[in-house]
Amino acid sequence: MKFDVLTLFPEMFEPLKVSIIGKAVQNGLLEINLINIRDFSKDKHKKVDDTPYGGGAGMVMMSEVVYDAYNSISNKEKAKVIYLSPQGKTLNQKKVVELSKEEHIILLCGHYEGIDQRVLDEIVDEEISVGDYVLTGGEIPAMILIDSVSRYIKGVLKEDSTKEESFSQDLLEYPQYTRPEVFNGKKVPEVLLSRKS
Ligand code: SAM
Repeated sequence: MKFDVLTLFPEMFEPLKVSIIGKAVQNGLLEINLINIRDFSKDKHKKVDDTPYGGGAGMVMMSEVVYDAYNSISNKEKAKVIYLSPQGKTLNQKKVVELSKEEHIILLCGHYEGIDQRVLDEIVDEEISVGDYVLTGGEIPAMILIDSVSRYIKGVLKEDSTKEESFSQDLLEYPQYTRPEVFNGKKVPEVLLSRKS
């Protein structure tokens, strides 16, 4: 599966280089490309934002630079373009599983006050939120989406790992225990003691 991420801060994606997602990338199960929107600015100071029409605090990312960054992505005709946004539909496990069936996802990360609506109307298929709160940018939401979706790609986790976990059958997972059998006077429930692998 391929993710192309449009962002002003590619350096924020370092966490995806380690652990399970990092290994999946190394093993060729996942491809994650980071595209720096600022590289497409035609301004001599590499400006990417401007004040909003109608007033208000903060800056708005400009259409053209976002559009040019998007157009630099090759073979995007069948890709799903997702804008991470507090106004989007809240991400849940059902959506995660649905997205894991896509071959190519383009993630657009906003920053500051957000992105000029006209380029969103032009390129975005879907808006997704990671919860009812506001973050400084779409980078952490994009990492949440990549992490959660990637777990459903064949080979990323051990077979069956996603079958019995929280939300997989509209339930939450049971408490887990490992050695030692007694910790600070608390024992592992008797019923589990015969089943340690
Ligand atoms: N002015 C916007 C509003 O009031 O809804 C908030 C903009 S926010 C500071 C900057 C960017 O962070 C957004 O464009 C979006 O990409 C991202 N973002 C913030 N909160 C988010 C959330 N809960 N889910 C997904 N993306 C979010």
